[in-house]
Amino acid sequence: MTKILAIDDTPYNLDILKNGLEDEGFDMVTAQSGREGLALIDQERPDLVLLDIGMPEMDGHQVLQQIRLSDEHAELPVIILTANTEDSNLARCLESGANDYVTKPFSFTALVARINNVLRTQKDTIQLSRDVEKLRDMAYRDEMTGLLNRRAFFDRANAEFEMAKSSKEPLSIAILDIDHFKSINDEYGHPKGDEVLKAFGKMLKGSLRLHDVVGRIGGEEFAVCLPNSKPMNAYGTFERLRTKLCKEHLLSGDDGEIRPVTVSIGIVGLTDQKELDSLMILADMALYRAKNQGRNRTIVETGVIN
Ligand SMILES: [Mg+2]
Repeated sequence: MTKILAIDDTPYNLDILKNGLEDEGFDMVTAQSGREGLALIDQERPDLVLLDIGMPEMDGHQVLQQIRLSDEHAELPVIILTANTEDSNLARCLESGANDYVTKPFSFTALVARINNVLRTQKDTIQLSRDVEKLRDMAYRDEMTGLLNRRAFFDRANAEFEMAKSSKEPLSIAILDIDHFKSINDEYGHPKGDEVLKAFGKMLKGSLRLHDVVGRIGGEEFAVCLPNSKPMNAYGTFERLRTKLCKEHLLSGDDGEIRPVTVSIGIVGLTDQKELDSLMILADMALYRAKNQGRNRTIVETGVIN
């Protein structure tokens, strides 16, 4: 049920609003002063506020200002009820953030129409901002895995890289490539290949810390930037992932035959490199060595470890 808070210093007005709007099916809460009204907004979380302007101590303009300045209730719809029909007063109400105003005396038909209109607009606005958020999300997420896309990975990793350089904290970069992925697609079909990518992306994300930056930077290629992590620590993390992957049987054929999915990984730590790109090249070189040495292994750029 839609809950409405009416704030008015005249008890008679509150009685009329409460009775009239309850008859229309609204759930009513009332307050006799601005201060009481603000407290009730916190306690009762109304969907909309009907606000009188002329009140002692704290008038309606001040109450509205407090609502719009609050972190939690800034978007709360407010309809002003005012006996002052001068244009300057009405203009001031809208300028200070009222969603609408109704002049006294009013008819309940008009008031209910205004209430419903404001609530509908509010709903549309919320939907719109959700849509915008979704679009923004699509711009930096890889749709298949939900990880960062290539561009977003480089943006975020670059910020971490600059921070690590200036604070002289360690940082590691890893590039991971699923072995023989093309043959997975060829033999089992692209839907299976996509399943493997999704499952691997999930496993990868699950094996990292919250603040590690992880993205899918190519078809079957993933990259991770691990702030505050030395290459040997990163090595431990990725070796656990690699061995887990061998056991998890991400891929089985229609005949029930299980085919292991493996990954090759190259890691490099922050050295005196001036650019993230040169670190990425070093990590890529380590990855190539892992591939050349037979795949399904992790190599840190400083030497062969596995
Ligand atoms: Mg009044």
